[in-house]
Amino acid sequence: MIYRSIETLRRAIATRRAEGDRIGLVPTMGALHEGHISLVQEAEKTCQHVIVSIFVNPRQFNSQTDLAHYPRTEADDIALLDGRCSLFIPSVETMYPSGYCTSVQTGGLAERLEGAHRPGHFDGMATVVTKLLTITGPDQAFFGEKDWQQLQIVRRIVQDLNLPVDIVACPTLREPDGLALSSRNRRLSHSAREIAPKLHTIMQDTALAIRTGMETDAALAAGKEAFAHAGFGPVDYLECCHAETLEPARPGSAPLRLLAAAFLGSVRLIDNIVI
Ligand code: AMP
Repeated sequence: MIYRSIETLRRAIATRRAEGDRIGLVPTMGALHEGHISLVQEAEKTCQHVIVSIFVNPRQFNSQTDLAHYPRTEADDIALLDGRCSLFIPSVETMYPSGYCTSVQTGGLAERLEGAHRPGHFDGMATVVTKLLTITGPDQAFFGEKDWQQLQIVRRIVQDLNLPVDIVACPTLREPDGLALSSRNRRLSHSAREIAPKLHTIMQDTALAIRTGMETDAALAAGKEAFAHAGFGPVDYLECCHAETLEPARPGSAPLRLLAAAFLGSVRLIDNIVI
């Protein structure tokens, strides 16, 4: 079933809830791939009514060009999912009607990494995720570790705003060559697609170097050099951080996560792995 209006979706959810079903939400921006499907599969394990939202949220794009080029494949997305779960596909006008003027302002861990390079991105994300959570009122919402910083911020929002929902983290799905699945991958040229998996390999090498005792700054510098050598550029960041606070790693801090963002031509790729 496809819902485009908030009222109809809410009525349908209320009916399912009255029947005793657990409600699961999988927020997406569409151009669905196996990574998204893995979130749906995870949701189906514990929720009888799974809602996938598809909304390319203009407020989380800090670049109009990026927004204009973001892939939109609604018919394919519907073909892939409709029947398996409910879809919520609101218009921009439905989510942000005329006069709309409220936003969720993030701080702290949202100011670093992606936040530093994409001003306004996390406020836009926080606003739409909060709206989607209050529209659907799910028992559980499913997010990919692919967007690690987003996941930590969503946990923070839920805690700070006392939202009654359980946030479930799902592992990153990768191509056989290690490239993390992403809607943006379809914009890679043939030659860029050949280079793209090196983002992951170089990160693995960097993580191994840090794990086996190399000084963190030296390992990160070597990693950035390897990115440039492979053809990435500019490299927005390659950082070793505390996995939850995303503060730069200090001696003894744990658990650690390695996070990176780099351009390949006009496509910006992000990835993260455990250290
Ligand atoms: P997006 O449509 O890119 O906004 O992603 C929607 C959700 O799918 C987010 O929670 C992402 O973290 C998650 N996701 C995207 N790519 C992957 C992947 N390769 N593996 C697992 N989850 C993913």
